[in-house]
Amino acid sequence: MARWSLALAIAALSMALLLLPEMIFLPNRWPANLLGKEYVFLFLCCLLLSCSGKGGFVAGFVTVIGCMALSEIAHFIYFGRLLSPISVKLIFKEWAEIIHTGSASSYLIAVVLTVLFAYGTVIAILVRFKQYLPSFPKLSALCLLAVLVSPFIQVSLRNDILFYASRNYYPVPIRALYTYAVATRSWLTERKCPPALYQAPSFTVHEPQPRDVVVLMGESLSPNHMSVLGYHRNTTPWLNEQSINAHPNNKFKAGLAIAAGVATRSTFPLFFNAVNDPTDRDAVAGGATNLFQLARKNGFASTLITAQSEELMQGVDLSGVQIMELPKSDAISAKKKDVGLLDLLDQVPSAQRRFIVIQFRAPHSPYAEHTKQRPDLQRFTSALDTFREREIADYDNALLLVDEVAKGVVQRVGDSVKPAYVLLTSDHAELLDSEGRWGHSLLDLDVAQVPLILWAPKNDRQFWSWAKRHPVPAHYDIAREIAQLLGFNIRNSTETAARFVNGPASFGVDGYFRWTLVDGYPFVVERLSATCVDSPR
Ligand SMILES: [Zn+2]
Repeated sequence: MARWSLALAIAALSMALLLLPEMIFLPNRWPANLLGKEYVFLFLCCLLLSCSGKGGFVAGFVTVIGCMALSEIAHFIYFGRLLSPISVKLIFKEWAEIIHTGSASSYLIAVVLTVLFAYGTVIAILVRFKQYLPSFPKLSALCLLAVLVSPFIQVSLRNDILFYASRNYYPVPIRALYTYAVATRSWLTERKCPPALYQAPSFTVHEPQPRDVVVLMGESLSPNHMSVLGYHRNTTPWLNEQSINAHPNNKFKAGLAIAAGVATRSTFPLFFNAVNDPTDRDAVAGGATNLFQLARKNGFASTLITAQSEELMQGVDLSGVQIMELPKSDAISAKKKDVGLLDLLDQVPSAQRRFIVIQFRAPHSPYAEHTKQRPDLQRFTSALDTFREREIADYDNALLLVDEVAKGVVQRVGDSVKPAYVLLTSDHAELLDSEGRWGHSLLDLDVAQVPLILWAPKNDRQFWSWAKRHPVPAHYDIAREIAQLLGFNIRNSTETAARFVNGPASFGVDGYFRWTLVDGYPFVVERLSATCVDSPR
């Protein structure tokens, strides 16, 4: 009896300590209901821990959940919002980027120290008192391991339920344990968000001439670092040459566009489904204007060639699309980094009509990764050997790869007798010490301003007059023009002149804004947030 009383007391004390960092750093997120099921669950975990009887196991388990708490709090301090299931999954994919960006933010040390103190004390107490506590090592280890492993299984399940999940609340750090281990399914299947509006497209369809329509979708590509758009370093030598001296039958134009979102996953469903309003779940889910599917309907062979992962296309129906993932391709082309995309392009069967989307990985952070094996691309170096200068030089070197791939693509599709349309844009831009900010995912016009490079037959008057009428098009406008090239004239009865930029999460749940052009410059009109987020649980 005494053992059990001590176990209950130690479990309560451990729970308080585990919650301490959250209390200090996220006071506003502190949930009022301490008897909520998350806390009962946490208390039970602490009780199991105090009965585990094995010091090593206790230390391991507490360290793992300590890392979870640390990543949640750090994410909140850096981005001003808590993690979502999608971003938890990304932590494991993009850890190099996170450590890289995080190391630049020294104030996170306070968080690290607090977590170390609180979680370290829990380990010390449990180890110190273990001989006075009840001991069920097998049962305890089994239950606690199930708690840890279950979120990995659930989060790694690639399904669109995760993508479409309504997120009426975010997990606060320690509730993550409960949320990811137990509540994920019900949490995901609960759809409380009402349909915001529904893009109601109608089409006129014509059969296009045989052609190749190629979309080069950049990654973290900032127009203000491309020499073809005025940057002082010659980062895009081939594109520069094209702007002076394009192919005799083709015309070239370099300009700006505004991306649909500020993160890959928030942009793609909107761009490739040609959806304007980011809160329009039904338009994304319905996919009536999905570019890949429109292409297929009009007899285009559709291909997605990616240097990243098909998973980034969650929310885009890729059925019937030939998918080529560079990281999964043969060792040689995978080793070539983005230049390997050209090897994959060579394998795309020839056809009368082709729609090909090529997605880059360069210049995603960490930038130096992309050019590591290419001494010939170490063209820009930093005179001052500072973090800032090195980062910028590495980023600029990585842009040389983008230029090289663009050249390779145009050489491959541009020389045939069949007309070819090549459109290069990016999922979002990248901040490189812009007012002290780095990276992307911040809901800001600077992150949404992307390049738009067009390379198309000179004699297509319709296409070039579209380009003229849209000095700075939104991704939505570009997507509609791509649909036009695929033979579909889309009309939306609900359409207004409003254009949007989505925040880092799908459906505007992490905020979004409406913008317009004022004297040719994009201007934020109104910052919005999907109402669904604010509604109580
Ligand atoms: Zn991206």
